Amino acid sequence: MTTPKSSTAPALEPDTTETRDRMWALVVDATTWDQGRGFRRTRVAPPRLDEKSAPQDAVHVIVQVLYAGVCGTDRGIYERTSLGETILRSLAEEGKSERIVGHELVGRVVEVGSDVPVEFGFRAGDIVSTESHIFCGRCYQCRLGQQHICSDDRIIGVSRDGGFAEYIKLPARVLWSTNTERIALEVAAIQEPFGNAVHTCTRVDLRGKTVGIFGCGTIGLFAAMIARTLGAAHVIGIEPEKERRALARAAGADLVLPVHRRETREPSPDPEVVRQLHDETSGVGLDVALEMSGFNSSLNNAIASTRRGGEVVLFGLHSGDFTIHKYESVILKGLTLYSVIGRELFRTWTFTQRLLEDRANGIQDKILGLVLQHGEGTILDIRDFEADTFERMMRDHPKILLRFASL
Ligand SMILES: [Zn+2]
Ligand SMILES: [Zn+2]
Repeated sequence: MTTPKSSTAPALEPDTTETRDRMWALVVDATTWDQGRGFRRTRVAPPRLDEKSAPQDAVHVIVQVLYAGVCGTDRGIYERTSLGETILRSLAEEGKSERIVGHELVGRVVEVGSDVPVEFGFRAGDIVSTESHIFCGRCYQCRLGQQHICSDDRIIGVSRDGGFAEYIKLPARVLWSTNTERIALEVAAIQEPFGNAVHTCTRVDLRGKTVGIFGCGTIGLFAAMIARTLGAAHVIGIEPEKERRALARAAGADLVLPVHRRETREPSPDPEVVRQLHDETSGVGLDVALEMSGFNSSLNNAIASTRRGGEVVLFGLHSGDFTIHKYESVILKGLTLYSVIGRELFRTWTFTQRLLEDRANGIQDKILGLVLQHGEGTILDIRDFEADTFERMMRDHPKILLRFASL
């Protein structure tokens, strides 16, 4: 993959004694959270393992980040529209003023705590991705094996320092070993968001079903690829943007319907799209609706388009109140609603690995070609980071990557 160099990028700082112990990172500042937008590229002290002063470092590792994925959550942080409260509260608890962002990555283990090889089997040189939700391992859910809904989890890049940096310190228990002979590094970097789609598509049985994907953003595109592979009989996308509709078709949807774009909290469903979905299913309605947009109207489109006894899987997230249009229809139609958060540890990761490693299903090639455009305009080296370039890339592509180092 090639990366066009940005001509406006500031020159790399000379490697002086002062900068040698510092690493590049993208941060947001607590003090200017309310005023600004964007990420600040800066040099910060790299994380270290120091078991003498921090005994828990015995089960931690230092990972050198190779590629990191930029997702919608990061865009929300960039624009200061999401997670401000969580970031500021966690920084106050840590007595710090800047947060390193980023939570999707692939990297190389460069240092391990003394208990890591025996307890977790990781060694320096291993290529790993990571679960982004750092579960506590002690709470009620964790003890039941439901670590993805841990009551005391920390999310990297939000409530603890993240992966938009040359190095990150992580507990070995969240690492996911990755075979880069089978999964391209660029794809390995986005196993975390791909895992969201895997979790959504495995929440209910899709085999032989008519499946609607409401919202064909990045995770919706992944869901189209996965639903197809898992044996859905008919996959219909619902998406307001023309370019995304074309991508969703190429990703594996049989048909992608346009829908009126509404304000996030505007609840009224789009009667035209509901009618079209009923026409497409001989008047029956969808067996399964995957709500991937986090728009109130889309939730109501999903509920109104699903058949009696059908299933609605909710992944799209928005804080605040949503209204359910004709609430009684949920009961009268006997619908089942599910919600999906994160990835089941490590069941979803195992499933993700198998879907990506099996080149016969074409998913990896679709991610490389359709989503990452073979690296054309989708990979930005941290040394070339510049706000305008970064914003343009985020605007033009469903997924972009930051490169911190090569293998
Ligand atoms: Zn994400
Ligand atoms: Zn827990």
